Amino acid sequence: MIIDCHTHLNNYHDETLDDLPGCLEKLQTSMRRNRVDISMVLTSYKVTPGRPSTRAVVDATKGMANIHVIAGISYKTFSEKDVAELRAMLEAKEIKGLKLYPGYEPFYPADTKLAPAYQLAEEFDVPVMIHCGDTYAPQGRVKYSHPINVDDVAVDFPKVRFLICHLGNPWFRDCMEVVYKNNNVYTDISGLTLGDFSDRFEAYMRTQLKEMILWGVNPKKVLWGTDWPLVSMESYLQFMDELRLPPKDKELMLWRNAVEFYKLDVQEHAKKGLGKLFG
Ligand SMILES: [Zn+2]
Repeated sequence: MIIDCHTHLNNYHDETLDDLPGCLEKLQTSMRRNRVDISMVLTSYKVTPGRPSTRAVVDATKGMANIHVIAGISYKTFSEKDVAELRAMLEAKEIKGLKLYPGYEPFYPADTKLAPAYQLAEEFDVPVMIHCGDTYAPQGRVKYSHPINVDDVAVDFPKVRFLICHLGNPWFRDCMEVVYKNNNVYTDISGLTLGDFSDRFEAYMRTQLKEMILWGVNPKKVLWGTDWPLVSMESYLQFMDELRLPPKDKELMLWRNAVEFYKLDVQEHAKKGLGKLFG
């Protein structure tokens, strides 16, 4: 079984603007081709013609047992209205977690303005994913997306599970320490490249990840995710294979950790006809 903990239905190139059903079809095709059983879809911090709202993604994926939605939050516009909307979606079990984008927006995760979001995460026992590391766009401000900032909020909210996206690339050591030190902090390996890996870059990333595990980051706290459509699922599965991890750890990273982290009911998926889920 495979769970991709980090995908998007955004358009990153305006010249090829797909509508939401078109993006979803592409995601489902990529999942089928790569035997990915479940994808977590992370919505953006902004709504534009190419970036659908959380509500739109929830509605478009209703009835799809293999897609779950993580709600993107905008720090800049975060308001009581957002809190009420998120609460309603959490009560209806329409979303499985929250996502923040420091760096893309200028704020530190521990900013008190976001306390209501963390309180919701605690109340509904859903995790908070935090973009960390490089911002892909030069307009980003990376002092905000440094993984060390996650430590602060992880200490403030010890009952909330946090995830440092992209291993905090390129601040792998800082990410290591924050994940190691805090019981409630996890990381994903998504978005380490754009498109496909080059051989040398892949070898470099392999070393980083192996070092992290060797140093003491529990494989139970590392989740497999891609950042599709920015990277291909094919190259990411290959990357995983080439890590040559013990089969037990590989299984943890490919799906078992995600089931626990997002509290996924895979029995429910199996009932809906996705029989290969336990394979
Ligand atoms: Zn992403």
